[in-house]
Amino acid sequence: MAAAWTLTARWLLTGDGPPLEHGTITIREDRIETIATAGPHTPDVDLGNSVIVPGFVNAHTHLDLSGACGATPPTTAAAFPDWLRSVIAFRRTRSDADVATDIITGLNACLQAGTTLLGDIAASGASWPTLADAPVRAVVFREMLGLSDLRSMVAFRESSEWLQVTHPTATCRPGLSPHAPYSTSVWLFLTALSAEVPVMTHLAESAAEVELLECRSGPFVAFLQELGVWEPDALAVSVGEFPLLARQVRATLQPAPPLLFAHGNHLSPDLPLADEQTTIVYCPRTQAAFGHPPYPLREFLAHGVRVCLGTDSLASNPDLDILEEARFVRRLFPDLSGETILRMVTLSGAEALGWADTTGSLTPGKSADLVVLPIAESDAGTDPYASLWGSDLPRRTLFRGEWR
Ligand SMILES: [Zn+2]
Repeated sequence: MAAAWTLTARWLLTGDGPPLEHGTITIREDRIETIATAGPHTPDVDLGNSVIVPGFVNAHTHLDLSGACGATPPTTAAAFPDWLRSVIAFRRTRSDADVATDIITGLNACLQAGTTLLGDIAASGASWPTLADAPVRAVVFREMLGLSDLRSMVAFRESSEWLQVTHPTATCRPGLSPHAPYSTSVWLFLTALSAEVPVMTHLAESAAEVELLECRSGPFVAFLQELGVWEPDALAVSVGEFPLLARQVRATLQPAPPLLFAHGNHLSPDLPLADEQTTIVYCPRTQAAFGHPPYPLREFLAHGVRVCLGTDSLASNPDLDILEEARFVRRLFPDLSGETILRMVTLSGAEALGWADTTGSLTPGKSADLVVLPIAESDAGTDPYASLWGSDLPRRTLFRGEWR
């Protein structure tokens, strides 16, 4: 058996207990063996004036859109379908080789940020081969689109075939992503929910989406007509119908796989969303860039709803740095504790994606996935969370017990 080694730094934030000043983490092979306060274990490596935190979880990306950086700027909230038009136009310019390059570009940005677990939505599941081989954990959600009976059936068949040949690895698992209520029939959404894999769908992102479902009117009508996919009878009757349908279908699966609702900008916190399997993925900077109304984060948390963070893609976000999302939340919601915000980019993300038994906190028995954040010289280091919000010094990442 390989020898254990012990790491320390000014602060150890385990995500599973109080901050430990000069605490130690002992690692054997790819696992955490012990977490301890200063004293009992002599460190082999002292990272000095730094903070050690669990590896970051970015629960919502589209790596295949990484080439869109700057090409598809966010619109006003009212013109949201215009942004979708620009993304569709961009996708039509990309060859398979371009997409493969874009996925690698996006992955490298995520690795640089200290991400050790990703939830990635990919057309045709295209990011699977790259992510399955990369030094990162991931759930790859194959995108499903279809409002008409025919398109829904084709999406169902292609996704079923993909699931049959896409086998989980030690670090990568397949999932499904019925795209959104305006692009996915209720039937297709139900078939995805019935599969025994994680599911992520965009939900209640714009007011236009809410208007489409509740009134069959607004800017989405012309958008869907242009695309030749206007199928009003296939749509749900409200954005709130999706969580209720999901709850019914998931109740028949034991255990129920993870269910993630990306955005939820217009989702009522009164809906029954507080359960073990369900998570809202808030994408703070993208939400702000479109000028959507203030996000009901406090309300979700007060209702016991699990919320984690995602960057969304470079088609709407300036970068794929999930810590920058946490910093943005810190500025918008300064009353939230450092512990609460750190949890949103670590353990809550791991729970959301179904990986919390393995990663998401620095806990004995879990994978040794961590990020080292140096404390700026201007910071006395008395607040263990300060360097999360302030330091731009380069980060180091340990993944499965090895420096990445
Ligand atoms: Zn998205």
